[in-house]
Amino acid sequence: MKNVIKASSDDWLSFDKVHVWHPYASMQNTLPVYPVIAAEGVYLTLEDGRKLIDGMASWWSVIHGYNHPQLNEAIHKQLDNMAHVMFGGLTHHPAVELAAKLIEITPDSLDRVFFCDSGSVAVEVAIKMAIQYWYAIGHPEKQKLLTIRSGYHGDTFGAMAVCDPVNGMHNIFSNILPQHYFADAPRSKYDEDWDEEEIKSFQSLLEQHHDQIAAVILEPLLQGAGGMRIYCPEYLRRVRTLCHEYNVLLILDEIATGFGRTGTLFACERAEVIPDILCLGKALTGGYMSLAATLTTAKVSDGISSHFPGLFMHGPTFMANPLACSVAAASIKLLLESPWQQRVSQIEKQLIGSLLPCASLPYVADVRVLGAVGVVELMHPVNLGQMQQRFVDKGVWIRPFRNLVYIMPPYVINTEELDQVTNAIIEVIKEEKGANYL
Ligand code: PMP
Repeated sequence: MKNVIKASSDDWLSFDKVHVWHPYASMQNTLPVYPVIAAEGVYLTLEDGRKLIDGMASWWSVIHGYNHPQLNEAIHKQLDNMAHVMFGGLTHHPAVELAAKLIEITPDSLDRVFFCDSGSVAVEVAIKMAIQYWYAIGHPEKQKLLTIRSGYHGDTFGAMAVCDPVNGMHNIFSNILPQHYFADAPRSKYDEDWDEEEIKSFQSLLEQHHDQIAAVILEPLLQGAGGMRIYCPEYLRRVRTLCHEYNVLLILDEIATGFGRTGTLFACERAEVIPDILCLGKALTGGYMSLAATLTTAKVSDGISSHFPGLFMHGPTFMANPLACSVAAASIKLLLESPWQQRVSQIEKQLIGSLLPCASLPYVADVRVLGAVGVVELMHPVNLGQMQQRFVDKGVWIRPFRNLVYIMPPYVINTEELDQVTNAIIEVIKEEKGANYL
């Protein structure tokens, strides 16, 4: 007989506390989780009736706000027709329509689309594509990857192996992860002058090991969960040139930055860099369902397909789920028909005006803004439970990690709502005392 707490309607939180894992969480010493019963626009409604403005867009994904009528309609329509069907040997309109849209909005040479379930899997697929491509065209020795420190690409094993080996949250697995090459992370900030020294570590690793390197993988311009660092576009341009020079593929992970977040539809546009493989996820469905895509070129897909084993070795059960594909197509349509550039640039302006002055507060190490992303880096790790509670008390949802208080709100947030979010950040940071730090 299992020792299970009864999940009665009045005690479901106790059940959650004992039996349900949350992301990066303990099953003992648990921090509070807040029960959400509804969400609308930029607001989350808690069970006790309190409403919180979501500063996180549910981890970058809910770009249009919650419960959007057009997205609801797309998913309802598809649900009435067909919720799911296997993709092996079958196809359907939602997948083809979405693939056509993705091909239309991404750089010209990217015209082959592989759908999968999550960002981490999109990264696994990208890595497999790169390795399988070289294998197929007679270079089975090219199996390593080169990346930069402070990156984050997901929680599965292939993806973990290219996260920052120290702060990428996975160092306890390091002995069983494939060993790849890590160059120093770029130091120049987005708008700082280019310093030739920056690329030296990357260049020298490529010079020494290009014979074994299948691909370089990077988050363009903005590194997410590895440190929320924003770097100079020239770095990315140099990487692209070196990849061509040394015959190595370039994978760009735009899972966080894609669909307008940094001010251009894809961050690689800011550096005018075109990858050989592109990973998309998060905002792809407007935050409705888990779906990701890995795009590549005809050169890579033909290489894989025209040589032994002639098949790309990946095929998830829920590949190209029709509900997810329909809502993704509707989300892209909604984005392109909306004034998203003005919205993102308005958010950027407001974040610059309201967050940059935080740089002079005690305990603040740095403040940075790019597009609809604002980051306040503190000098010490925050006490997550306490800080999150203080944000909730101020009516906003912000979930810091390590020493980073950061926001990436839905694009539809208005000036007053964003003021409430940034004021809460300023107040909470002002309230921080040394003693509150872990
Ligand atoms: N790549 C990047 C850049 C990410 O930010 C994330 C998620 N934080 C992932 C990959 C992994 O995506 P998922 O959580 O959907 O597996």
